[in-house]
Amino acid sequence: MIRIKTEEEIALLKENALLVSRTLAEVGKHVVPGVTTMELDKVAETFIRDHGAVPGFLGYGGFPYTLCLSVNDVVVHGFPSDYRLEEGDIVSVDCGTIYKGFYGDSAYTFPVGEVDAQTRKLLDVTKESLYRGISKAVEGNRIGDIGHAIQSYAESFGFSIVREFVGHGIGTNMHEDPEVPNYGKPGRGKKLSEGMVICIEPMVNAGGKAIYLHKNGWAVSTADKSKSAHFELMVAVRKGKAEVLSTFDFIENC
Ligand code: MG
Ligand code: MG
Repeated sequence: MIRIKTEEEIALLKENALLVSRTLAEVGKHVVPGVTTMELDKVAETFIRDHGAVPGFLGYGGFPYTLCLSVNDVVVHGFPSDYRLEEGDIVSVDCGTIYKGFYGDSAYTFPVGEVDAQTRKLLDVTKESLYRGISKAVEGNRIGDIGHAIQSYAESFGFSIVREFVGHGIGTNMHEDPEVPNYGKPGRGKKLSEGMVICIEPMVNAGGKAIYLHKNGWAVSTADKSKSAHFELMVAVRKGKAEVLSTFDFIENC
């Protein structure tokens, strides 16, 4: 069941969205060669608690950390560890909050120092595919319009879309209806209405789309070991133009 949010609920979701956005920027300041991903997890947990909120992922379905930190060929749901980031790596930072009874959820993939041209392209294309998906999140469109915009753009560069994980509605639960796949056909799927709040989160692989689940039951990696990027924003469906609730501005313009 898709729950349409009131303006008051959207305002609370936006508070979460902005806190997640600021947390990602705080983590980003620490993404340098030599830092461990566990240190990044602690930066996020401290920042979230200092702002009176609770990490949204910690304990969610048994997930044991504040952040999902997914390095290089890890697509999503990587565990923080004592791995030290190296120049040329990429790290997807996926972050959730709970604040005033609502959830926040967004993700950004950071380059560690200088990355090679193909990796830079993967990051740029994945982020742009997200913005193309967001442009379709308007009343009267359908879920498939979002997925088609993401898929057609990413695949035009020879990259591939992960199918097993998708975007989602968000509210007092982190994952609500509808599912928002990063692939699809125009004009297909559920109709979008003003007041729906969704997370759009393309996961794009530099190589093939096949993935495998790690033994810890959480992390997934590309089968061909190619790098994978992941960007996520929270979006309120509106008439005419989507309202983006979270932002990468704190990361990119500070
Ligand atoms: Mg999400
Ligand atoms: Mg997320």
